[in-house]
Amino acid sequence: MKIKIDKGKCIGCGTCVALAPDYFQIGADNKAELIKEEVADNEEAVKNAVANCPMKAISLEGEQDEA
Ligand code: SF4
Repeated sequence: MKIKIDKGKCIGCGTCVALAPDYFQIGADNKAELIKEEVADNEEAVKNAVANCPMKAISLEGEQDEA
């Protein structure tokens, strides 16, 4: 699955960086940017970042249900 950031919504709060520092960093524009977009492991950290982004600016593509 892949991560997408909607920079139009991002306010640069840093929550995603704190929760999943392997995937997110704050860029020169003071908005979140991806270090890598493909989620291989540490998935829970990414899902935490998605769930806790105050602007709902992060989404996941191609998420698979493991039911
Ligand atoms: S948690 Fe959301 S609003 Fe905050 S920096 Fe990350 S993407 Fe931007």
